[in-house]
Amino acid sequence: MLNVPSQAFPAPGSQQRVASGGRSKVPLKQGRSLMDWIRLTKSGKDLTGLKGRLVEVTEEELRKHNRKDDCWICIRGLVYNVSPYMEYHPGGEEELMRAAGSDGTDLFDQVHRWVNYESMLKECLVGRMAVKPAVAKGNYDWFQTASLVTIVIYTKQKDISLDSIIVDYQDGSLRAETIIKDYAYLLHMGLCHEVQEEFSVRAVENVGKIEITLKKRQSTSWKCLGQPLEKHNSFTPKKDSDLRYRKCQLVSKEDVTHDTKLFCFMLPASSHLQVPIGQHVYLKLTVKEIVKPYTPVSDFLFSEFKEPVLPNKKWIYFLIKIYPNGLFTPELDRLQIGDFVSLSSPEGSFKISKLQELEELFLLAAGTGFTPMVKVLNYALTYVPRLRKVKLMFFNKTEEDIIWRSQLEKLAFKDKRFDVEFILSAPTSEWNGKQGHISPALLSEFLKRGQEESSVFLCICGPTPFTEQGIRMLHDLHISRDEIHGFTA
Ligand code: FAD
Ligand code: NAD
Repeated sequence: MLNVPSQAFPAPGSQQRVASGGRSKVPLKQGRSLMDWIRLTKSGKDLTGLKGRLVEVTEEELRKHNRKDDCWICIRGLVYNVSPYMEYHPGGEEELMRAAGSDGTDLFDQVHRWVNYESMLKECLVGRMAVKPAVAKGNYDWFQTASLVTIVIYTKQKDISLDSIIVDYQDGSLRAETIIKDYAYLLHMGLCHEVQEEFSVRAVENVGKIEITLKKRQSTSWKCLGQPLEKHNSFTPKKDSDLRYRKCQLVSKEDVTHDTKLFCFMLPASSHLQVPIGQHVYLKLTVKEIVKPYTPVSDFLFSEFKEPVLPNKKWIYFLIKIYPNGLFTPELDRLQIGDFVSLSSPEGSFKISKLQELEELFLLAAGTGFTPMVKVLNYALTYVPRLRKVKLMFFNKTEEDIIWRSQLEKLAFKDKRFDVEFILSAPTSEWNGKQGHISPALLSEFLKRGQEESSVFLCICGPTPFTEQGIRMLHDLHISRDEIHGFTA
């Protein structure tokens, strides 16, 4: 028996009947019937312009194909180049163009839900929409006003602070790395619209969230934040996270001793970075591919002599000794104000939590090994509630080599908890202070505790032999490993 369609097809009340009733058809040109289309699709002609290659299409890419002669439409995650089909479409070109460069699934469902588009448009298939990585719900969120876009990162760490996040915005992409315990959480997106270079970052400590507020260049409403880029929304062990560099400008350079200078660099407006206490960064010169580590200092020992620091903390200070036959420092010293160096993300294993319950702090520094002590000292004197005593033993060759001697002496005078002692290894005959190298005798005298049971912590930094010998001597004096932090390479 012949399978003749019944008169009642489509069935009364079916989707097809209802929709087709409301749908306007346009007259097609000659040679543009359904049969002509089928013939064309079977002709082997390259209808997508991609020579049969299937591609992953991002939303940004899809949006670019929005013209009649280059029209891509996404239906249920599959992207079709419908330009060759335009003239064959019974609903007309205009109707197809309503979905040009976008997701046309809803429009398609309103009008053609029954149509087997997969087979009709098989030869027009460009590829799939790129799959967004599954967003671990709750890691971040965003909202907007007419002029601002705010991204909120939920860290679940109540003590999260501004030095736990590094944000860089460059060429339309935003990269925000948040250090959460021993992991780096990365938010990395190609933003869907342009924003201004400057942005603000705020840590809401009691809630454990970080807010990055971007300023829109145009006050359009954003439909999405952007496209995920490499490693977006992922956690990487902190030690494996990339050391990224951003260009910083030399703002000032001042002599501190005959060979040590205070360098001040300014971070670009498009970066937020604060080096945590006890950590260092790498500086890289553009002229030579040399990279060396340096520990930024805070301004607390010299700020009374300086202009107020920028409130947004865009300046980073370094005390750097220039070695005339060194590889890096003579080149660094040749920089002019306004020149650039590249500055890496911070690195280091110092844990600030070691200081929080502290009663007595001992600092052993030799030469520029003083640099990590500056922030540690400032933090201890400002934020450690039970702190009773801080002693700095500062080893140098000569009096001339002592960094910030008068500032340290003034601080000792002002703050009764702080004491400093200078030990010279090559003093002149006029020196009536302590002399020699680090030794068990010097250390045992230095380490006399105020109270037998006080909780103590000790930091040591200088030339490698100094630090290594010092740590050995401290162990011999029964200072436990837990009570010592050695700053080493
Ligand atoms: P180099 O070329 O390394 O030489 C330095 C000097 O040592 C020169 O006089 C050279 O002739 C001599 N020398 C080199 N090798 C030898 C050798 N085998 N035997 C004998 N002599 C030798 N420095 C600071 O000034 N400030 C800081 O804040 C600071 N922070 C640091 C943080 C960390 C974590 C580390 C590991 C080091 C830090 N340093 C700091 C030191 C800094 O990284 C460089 O090592 C220093 O600036 C010297 O670099 P340079 O390339 O100029 O000299
Ligand atoms: P320096 O040559 O001027 O020496 C300063 C003092 O260190 C000397 O007076 C002496 O008491 C002691 N010292 C030097 N060599 C010694 C040795 N072989 N044994 C025992 N004691 C010794 O020092 P500098 O040129 O200012 O060098 C500072 C060192 O500190 C550099 O090696 C630098 O890499 C290191 N540093 C390390 C860090 C870090 O975080 N790891 C930070 C800053 C500086």
